[in-house]
Amino acid sequence: MRRPGWPGHADDAPRAETPTRAAGLARLASFVPHAAAYSRERNRVVPPHDGVSRLSPYLRHRLILEREAIAAVLDAHPRDAVDKFVSEVLWRTYWKGWLEQRPQVWDTYLDQLRRDRDGLVGTASTHYAEAIAGRSGIACFDAWASELIETGYLHNHARMWFASIWIFTLRLPWTLGAAFFLRHLLDGDPASNTLSWRWVAGLHTRGKHYLARAENIARHTDGRFYPQGELDEQALPLTEPPLDLLPRALPASVEPDMDTPSGLLLTPEDLAPEISRLSRLAFRGVAGGWDEGVEDGLDLAPPVVDFSRIAIADALSRAEAHFAVPSHALDEGDWLAATEAWACGLAVRQVVTLEAPVGRWRERLDQLDARLAKHGIALVRARRTWDNRLWPGATRGFFPFREHAYRQAHLDCPPGAADPELPNPKVVQSAADHPSG
Ligand SMILES: Cc1cc2nc3c(=O)[nH]c(=O)nc-3n(C[C@H](O)[C@H](O)[C@H](O)COP(=O)(O)OP(=O)(O)OC[C@H]3O[C@@H](n4cnc5c(N)ncnc54)[C@H](O)[C@@H]3O)c2cc1C
Repeated sequence: MRRPGWPGHADDAPRAETPTRAAGLARLASFVPHAAAYSRERNRVVPPHDGVSRLSPYLRHRLILEREAIAAVLDAHPRDAVDKFVSEVLWRTYWKGWLEQRPQVWDTYLDQLRRDRDGLVGTASTHYAEAIAGRSGIACFDAWASELIETGYLHNHARMWFASIWIFTLRLPWTLGAAFFLRHLLDGDPASNTLSWRWVAGLHTRGKHYLARAENIARHTDGRFYPQGELDEQALPLTEPPLDLLPRALPASVEPDMDTPSGLLLTPEDLAPEISRLSRLAFRGVAGGWDEGVEDGLDLAPPVVDFSRIAIADALSRAEAHFAVPSHALDEGDWLAATEAWACGLAVRQVVTLEAPVGRWRERLDQLDARLAKHGIALVRARRTWDNRLWPGATRGFFPFREHAYRQAHLDCPPGAADPELPNPKVVQSAADHPSG
């Protein structure tokens, strides 16, 4: 049903996702037969976006793993036929690894966002309110704003055009556009989102920006939109004061000491503990829950919070069955205190969690670390083998990273060996042999 006041809204846009691992695996299974058509179809922006996988909310929360998505398509198709899809999944890992080694870019973004919000007065404030309500007057932009709010998803090409129009035609601060995306995207992610907005603006690769063009929009939307004469197609890239972008060495990954009584903590950054290096460990209990503190300053939309809430509940019940221990839903109003009380109640000396990358959950884990230390409880953050091996390669551009990733893709697991993080070593071994370049 068309919603009043949302011009151009596509009735056949993709509906809300079911936030469970089973739904993610079902989505992956239904995409696999079409994966060979991905390189041909992926740029077409026509709802319900059948040319792309729409796996991002599942990958973002690690309800399914990058490795699983890659292995599934390689298992079903010749390597060359699905190379484009594999590369796109690797972009996710690349952005993560890039930001992990430059966490100051996220901190700078949050500072700048606060300043830009405070500085939004007069007509700029009106233009901003119109843009996020889908009333800018540019039909394609308004349709994408509405689609984003209603579905929590936008096609990659639409994200690029939207960000470009936001920055170069509407002349709004990029930080606020990135925050608008984070508020509504079910896959909203500090690394992919912040760095993609910076890339469109010309801040990531200095001086190289992405300009949305009316002809290009018309071609890839099958003529649904043609904003001829409405876009600034000549704008110059944004500039900013120099930022320290030298990559910092990643801290070493920590292994839990399993002679110590331990509890397992889940966060929505990684919700597949049964397929991780932790899967064979013994815990006294498992806990997880949404944390309202994470929302501070981000103003997340209810469907985004609900997606995480339900996904955490799904992971808790899988973990309870897998580890055969009681699960505990943490109070989201005071997550820190609730986690502290759970760990003390279990009488554990160690709380183990899968690493949360740069972002709000990382900050909360830093705070939890200090709280638990007062009770003599250690917080151990285990980094996945995938991240351990691939992230360090994200020091320069994507293409050297991709080579690094293909080399490292079979990781420390010889073909045939059973590593719980490597669902299909045989197939991933064949990816590792790829003559990338
Ligand atoms: C301005 C802007 C903001 C973005 N913000 C986010 C974000 O917050 N979260 C997010 O997950 N992605 C973000 N992206 C990347 C990309 O648009 C989405 O990952 C993709 O559209 C998700 O749809 P899909 O699952 O159908 O992708 P598919 O095309 O089917 O690709 C498969 C998977 O590969 C990964 N992938 C594909 N393209 C990219 C990319 N360019 N960068 C990183 N990973 C990619 C995703 O995990 C995706 O699920 C952003 C892109 C732009 C231009």
